Amino acid sequence: MIGHISKMQSRLASSGGTVEYALPLDDALLPLNPLLGKSLTLRHSGDIHCSHCGKKTNKSYSQGFCFPCMKKLPQCDLCIMKPETCHHSSVVASERCRDESWGEANCMVDHYVYLSNTSAVKVGITRHSQLPTRWIDQGANQGLPIFKVSTRYQSGLIETAMAQLISDKTNWRTMLKGDAEPLQLADIAQQLIPQIDQALDNVRLQFGEQSVQQLNHEVTEIQYPVLQYPGKISSLNFDKTPELGGTLLGIKGQYLIFDSGVINMRKFSSYLIEAEY
Ligand SMILES: [Zn+2]
Repeated sequence: MIGHISKMQSRLASSGGTVEYALPLDDALLPLNPLLGKSLTLRHSGDIHCSHCGKKTNKSYSQGFCFPCMKKLPQCDLCIMKPETCHHSSVVASERCRDESWGEANCMVDHYVYLSNTSAVKVGITRHSQLPTRWIDQGANQGLPIFKVSTRYQSGLIETAMAQLISDKTNWRTMLKGDAEPLQLADIAQQLIPQIDQALDNVRLQFGEQSVQQLNHEVTEIQYPVLQYPGKISSLNFDKTPELGGTLLGIKGQYLIFDSGVINMRKFSSYLIEAEY
């Protein structure tokens, strides 16, 4: 199968189940779970084509774009990494999103603030439609949405307050060394929420009492298709090794785990490869 890499697709049939992965190569989908324990070789042709404009680029920016597209597309703006700087609701027109309709569809919609457990508890935010995908992409074994808010900006304000108390980062090396110890996420949420009272009050003052909804959801438990975790993590990279792979030992987050090392497939979005299996 030949095509340009996109972010791996994932599906979790039910809480406690095992994630099913597929790798999109252009319009084709390569189901990955059936390849566990088998040989998979990925060969990069040397070509990278921007996933927006299709032009050839010598580097993939912001997970799949050429440099000019990275500079102009709203999904590549700096506020994507820092939701508390989302500027689409600014009263000054020139300060709003690079693309009005993108901002409306992606930022001015309901967001969740959640706790997840990869190798430790962390706080994060995501659009309402992106759960549990967001947790799977980070390789979390557990996830729990704790607040629902009306915009990306509001979620950023709450996340920033929570990040004073717990991490907002994933340690990918630890994540790839094994399953996370189960945590009582609901208890942790109960301990944290009173400590961010002031931030919650501020959001409600600014955007109305209804802007922040505290949730009472069940924890989602996530298992990954992994036969064996690597003892030592070595990263594979198409730029250094155009042909890579080996026996596929597992899939977790956006990583493929081979007997020869691990590769973050998302990092190589828009790379043209051939998959042989
Ligand atoms: Zn482009």
